[in-house]
Amino acid sequence: MPRTNLPPSRAQLHEQACIHCGAEDGELAPAGHVHTVTGENSAPLGWPVVACADGCTKEGQ
Ligand SMILES: [Zn+2]
Repeated sequence: MPRTNLPPSRAQLHEQACIHCGAEDGELAPAGHVHTVTGENSAPLGWPVVACADGCTKEGQ
């Protein structure tokens, strides 16, 4: 699970942005799933997500 408490963006939930840092450019690789417990539909959903293929260091941790 990502450390952020913010809900993933639409792009992140649609495998279009890194789940960790939100980068939309660069190479993205599958990074498991996240489950949203709140959101537009207020139902728990599992989403396949992607992350920076070279490891995500852009957020400082
Ligand atoms: Zn990233």
